[in-house]
Amino acid sequence: MKKVLSVFLAVVIMAVAVLPSFAKSDKCNCGEAPIIYVAALGSGTLTLDEGTENERVLFRPEIAEILPDLLPIVPAAVQLIADKNYDAFGDVLIDCVNSVFGELALDENGNSSDRVTCEEFHPDTADHGMEHSYYFGYDFRLDPVENAKLLHQYIQEVKEITKHDTVRWRASSMGGVVTMSYIRLYGTADIETIIFQCCPLQGTAVAGELYNGLVEINKDALKGYASQALPELGSDFLAGVLLALIEALDMAGVWDSLLVIADDLILNLKDRVFAECLIPIFGTLPGIWSFVPDEYYESGKEFMQLDPVENAQLIAKLDFYHYEVQSKCAELIALAKASGTTMYNVLGYDMQRTPLVTAYRETSDGTVDSKYASMGATCALLGETLPEDYTQAKYTDKNFMSPDRVIDASTCVMPENTWFIKDMLHSTTHDGHDELYDIMFESEKQLTVFDLEEYPQFLQNDVVNQCFYPVEAETDDSIKGAFDDLMNQFTFTKLVELIFKVIYSIIGA
Ligand SMILES: [Zn+2]
Repeated sequence: MKKVLSVFLAVVIMAVAVLPSFAKSDKCNCGEAPIIYVAALGSGTLTLDEGTENERVLFRPEIAEILPDLLPIVPAAVQLIADKNYDAFGDVLIDCVNSVFGELALDENGNSSDRVTCEEFHPDTADHGMEHSYYFGYDFRLDPVENAKLLHQYIQEVKEITKHDTVRWRASSMGGVVTMSYIRLYGTADIETIIFQCCPLQGTAVAGELYNGLVEINKDALKGYASQALPELGSDFLAGVLLALIEALDMAGVWDSLLVIADDLILNLKDRVFAECLIPIFGTLPGIWSFVPDEYYESGKEFMQLDPVENAQLIAKLDFYHYEVQSKCAELIALAKASGTTMYNVLGYDMQRTPLVTAYRETSDGTVDSKYASMGATCALLGETLPEDYTQAKYTDKNFMSPDRVIDASTCVMPENTWFIKDMLHSTTHDGHDELYDIMFESEKQLTVFDLEEYPQFLQNDVVNQCFYPVEAETDDSIKGAFDDLMNQFTFTKLVELIFKVIYSIIGA
C-alpha cells in the first residue's frame, strides 16, 4: 500500500514538474508566424436562395452563365445604329444590367437580404509557415468594418489552430480596405507584418466618378484598355464581363459603329441608367462606397440620393469608414508601426485604367490609381512625366523620385516602405512578387526601399521572366534629343547615332 502510494506520489510530482513545460510547448516554436491572405473583391462566393431549387451563384458567376443575360445587347445595338432609338436600347441595356447585378443590392440600411448568403471562411489545417498561407474571403458588398470583425474572428481561429500568438498577412486590393478597418478596430499588437498589394487605401477615381455620375467614353482610352488591360485582367470579374461583351459586339461588327455614337449614347441614356440601375444597386453597397476617394465622397452621397432619414443606418456605416478609416489612413499606419508591426505597400503604375470615367488619364494598375494606392504619391498623368521644373516635394536628403520622372513618392504616407511596380496589372503577381514578399515577411526589422539593392523603390515589371529590374530613366530617342546630346559632348559615336536616327525616321515614315 505504501509502495503504491509512493509510486502515485512520484507520478504526481513528476506530472507537476513536467506541467509547466507542457504549457510552454503548447505554443508552436517553429518561428514562422502563420501568414494570412486577406483576399480581394469577389473572394467570398455569394449564393442566392441556397438550398432551394432556385439556388444560383450570384457572385462571381461564370461569364458563360451570364452571357445569355447580356447577349440581347448585341441585336439591340445593331438596331440602335440603324434607327437611333436610344430609349428602346436603354430598355434592353437596363434589363441586362439588372438581371446580372440586380440581386446584389442591399436594403436601405446596407444589410443583405436573407436570400443571399456568403460562404464562411475558417482555417482548415494547422499547416503554416512560408509555404502555406490561410485564405480569408468575405461578402464584398458589406461594410468593410463588418468584414473586419469577421477577419478578427478568423485570426483568433488561426492563432488557436497553429498555436501562435501572432500572425502576418498580405492584403490584396479590397483586402486592404478591410485591413485598415481592422487596424482601426483592433490595432496590430498581434500582427508582425502587413503587406498591402494594389489596395485602394484612399479609394479609386472610377468609384468616385461613378458615384458622382461623371461618365464619359474616351474612344482611344477604351481601345487601349480593351487591348492592354482587359485580356490580362482575367481574374477581374467586371473586366471579364466587359471583354465578353466587347468581343460579342466586335464579332457582330457593331463595336466600331457604337464608338462613333458613344457620346450621344451617354447623353441620351446616362440619367436613365443611373436612376434605374446604378443608383438602386450600387448606392446601397458600403463595400463599393469604401472605394470613393475623399474629394468625391460628400457630393457622391448627394448624387446617389441617400436619404438622411430612410438611409440613416447606411449613412452611419459609410461615414464611419470614410472619416474614421480612409481619412485617417496616415494615423492608422503610424499606430501600427508604433506597435512594432512592419508595414509594406506594393502597387502598380503606368497602366491604362477603365476608360468610362473622366479620370481615365490618371496613372494606375488598370483599376486602382497609383496616387490613391500609395496614399498620396505625386504622379504624372499616364504617358506624361512630371513638369521639367518639378523637384521632389519632401525629405530632399533622400531620393524618392522615379528615374522615369513619373512619380514623386516623397508625398505618400510611407515613402520609405512603398514600392512602385511599373506595368504591374492590378493584383496580378508572379514569382518575382513572391520573392519580394518573402523578404518582407522574413525580416524582423522594418525594411526600407534603400535596404534592398535588388529591389529599389521603382521596379519595372517583367511578366515573361517573372522578375523585376530597376526602372531606368526614359531615354530621349528623338532626333532633337540626339542632336542636343551631340552638341553637349561631340563624339564620333554620338554623331553616328544621330545619322542613324535621321535615316531611321525617313525609312520609318
Ligand atoms: Zn509554428
